[in-house]
Amino acid sequence: RRDKILVSACLLGLPVRYDGKGKALDHALMDRWREEGRLVAFCPEEAGGLPTPRPPAEIEGGKTGDDVLDGRARVLEKTGRDVTAEFIAGADLAFREARLQSCRFALLIDGSPSCGAGFLYDGFFSGTRHPGFGVTAARLSRAGIHVFTQTEIEALQRRAFYQTHKGRCNTLNLLHN
Ligand code: SF4
Repeated sequence: RRDKILVSACLLGLPVRYDGKGKALDHALMDRWREEGRLVAFCPEEAGGLPTPRPPAEIEGGKTGDDVLDGRARVLEKTGRDVTAEFIAGADLAFREARLQSCRFALLIDGSPSCGAGFLYDGFFSGTRHPGFGVTAARLSRAGIHVFTQTEIEALQRRAFYQTHKGRCNTLNLLHN
């Protein structure tokens, strides 16, 4: 069985971002994993029912995806429309897909109120960053899935696969321990 990685669909170049574009990650590991059939593309915002293109959205008030999941914060489009329910639905569907596909790892793009796994924008559409998980990153992390950003792709490689002393590439049974 090949271990799979849930990946933000836009990192594979799929045109699912709010602006109708993708943001393909150009890295040899992406090519290898794609050829090996390890990548499961998923866009939580589209899955949650939002159209593409769509207005940009941020988590209000400098809060994080965990605050949204716990009911302490909302996700608001720049227009002021509350899209919290769509973001939570998308996060739940991302987790369901990860479980169905036996993904023990996720590779998510940074800065997104859904997929952000290192930094978020502060909710004022000012371009100011702060550390934290988006709604889907928080949902997956709470479920025990190991979440990495696109800048951590080599760390993901080291965590998920390692060279044994025999020189073969094996997979760690991290979540089975
Ligand atoms: Fe990409 Fe995630 Fe935003 Fe979808 S929700 S466009 S996969 S960052």
